[in-house]
Amino acid sequence: MPLLSDCNIRNIADRETLIKTGEINDNVYLILSGEFNVHLTPDCTDPVTVLEPGQSIGEISIIDHQPASAYVSAVKESRVLVIDEEVMWSLIGSSHAIANNLLVVLSQRLRHGNSVINKIKGLLKEYEHHATVDALTSLYNRRWLDNMQARVMQRCHKNNEALSVMMIDIDSFKDYNDKNGHLAGDIALRTVSQTIIQYLRPEDLVTRYGGEELFALLPGMDIKSTVTVAERLREAIKQTSITDKDDQPLPSVTISIGVAEMTIHDDPHQLIEDADKAMYKAKHSGRDKVCS
Ligand code: GH3
Ligand code: MG
Ligand code: MG
Repeated sequence: MPLLSDCNIRNIADRETLIKTGEINDNVYLILSGEFNVHLTPDCTDPVTVLEPGQSIGEISIIDHQPASAYVSAVKESRVLVIDEEVMWSLIGSSHAIANNLLVVLSQRLRHGNSVINKIKGLLKEYEHHATVDALTSLYNRRWLDNMQARVMQRCHKNNEALSVMMIDIDSFKDYNDKNGHLAGDIALRTVSQTIIQYLRPEDLVTRYGGEELFALLPGMDIKSTVTVAERLREAIKQTSITDKDDQPLPSVTISIGVAEMTIHDDPHQLIEDADKAMYKAKHSGRDKVCS
């Protein structure tokens, strides 16, 4: 190919950056030897891709004339054939095979880009899960509640639906830990959480409010029916057997529950406070109780 013979060969030192994000790039580089990492940001440790001899760099910016969208740096001493924009277009115009090759390269880049997006989407989902779900109990966490409670309240208002809540606290849990160990306490807390999830309806939203305090939102439920449900739940927890990792029985626990119903004037904070007050009433009347 006569035009290629006019192209220069450039030596690239180990760690030298060939292309930077945002910079105008007028060349396609054909890798003759060595290896290059492609990063989306300069501080990223994991490259999005690694380019080897036979592969090319920079073809997208000579096609769309946009600044480079990635950082490309050598990971060892490398050599590239520098094909400038004008020569590249002459090659594409004069050779069907080169134009075809370029299409193949571009579709590979597109496919790779899609798989990177899919991987990132999966990671985002995982991070989102960790940001909103408590690891020990698998219940929603406080952060989730802070974001969602006002929305749930608004939705119930809008649909003219009642909304009741329960503040649930494990009784004398400090003693439980002291007598049975913190690990046993963790198992008890997890068992209580799972029993509550199984006991309530799928549309009820249960969160770990703090240490051994759980908070549940029950859309569509008035206070009377919620007190009935809470009484049954209190009894169910008392009857639930707890076993350690070797299937050995641990003592069961009891819970105190405070129930409140949303009024038209309530904000999230007020509703939690009402349920909290009712829960303390249950504690003061001897624990293992439901109060409203
Ligand atoms: P009360 O009946 O008044 O609620 O008494 P209590 O002992 O449950 O309440 P207190 O607030 O004095 O103690 C709460 C205990 O819950 C202390 C803390 O170590 C324990 N706790 C909180 N979170 C966890 C946890 O994730 N795992 C374990 N094992 N214990 C926890
Ligand atoms: Mg407690
Ligand atoms: Mg507590």
